[in-house]
Amino acid sequence: MLLEVEDLDVVYGRTHAVKTMSLGVGGDEIVTVLGANGAGKSSLLKALHGMVPIQSGSIKFDGEDLNTLTSAQRVERRLALVPEGRQILVSMTVHENLLIGGCKRRDKSLLADIETIYDRFPNLGSRRDSQASTLSGGEQQMLSIGRALVSRPRLIMLDEPSLGLSPILVESLFELIKSLNSDGIAILLVEQNTKKALEVAKRGYVMELGATVLEGDANALAKDSGLVHAYLGTTSN
Ligand code: ATP
Repeated sequence: MLLEVEDLDVVYGRTHAVKTMSLGVGGDEIVTVLGANGAGKSSLLKALHGMVPIQSGSIKFDGEDLNTLTSAQRVERRLALVPEGRQILVSMTVHENLLIGGCKRRDKSLLADIETIYDRFPNLGSRRDSQASTLSGGEQQMLSIGRALVSRPRLIMLDEPSLGLSPILVESLFELIKSLNSDGIAILLVEQNTKKALEVAKRGYVMELGATVLEGDANALAKDSGLVHAYLGTTSN
């Protein structure tokens, strides 16, 4: 496994947000984590990225223990996070946002890599000098993913990327996720769009109140969507 998480606990005061969670992501896999609002999905990703402290447990990436590394060091190890709500810098240009994604890189091919991101997302290329605030929601999501790609990730963690996107953009987002994976990037996808997430993923985990309540092959979870939705507090129709 490229990412191996064992018995992870995240606690905020009296809230036990993640409870002895274990999961793995292989280097060629798309793995999804599903769960209702407040299930602990964002806390899990933030802990994996070093943005919130863990109470106990172990996080290994390519065999290396990440526990004592900062977020920036995790990016240098090529573990990227696309946070919930995009969190791009709206008063800066598209290009500046992408440069920030590469601020930890010391090699000379950063600008060439940014050009390949513009090739992948032509809407960003034609707006490279525009303020990010002028982009549509879908373009801002592309920019957030583009910024993560600048760090040449081996694994990208995406926190509810489809939130707030129109159905057409949701389709193209999931196509993009598949194509990133075909390009050799492992994906850990937190989603509330259970159906689409299970369609693209190889395996899935369902969280409730911080703990894993179901896990397995994505096809099997999709077939058992009634049970998955019962944990999510939604209907499968
Ligand atoms: P959502 O889909 O709403 O983002 P989630 O599954 O990502 O939900 P988390 O945001 O990880 O869930 O929240 C898990 C629990 O931890 C919730 O009870 C939430 O209120 C709590 N929580 C999250 N962040 C903090 C924080 N910084 N301080 C205290 N409690 C927090």
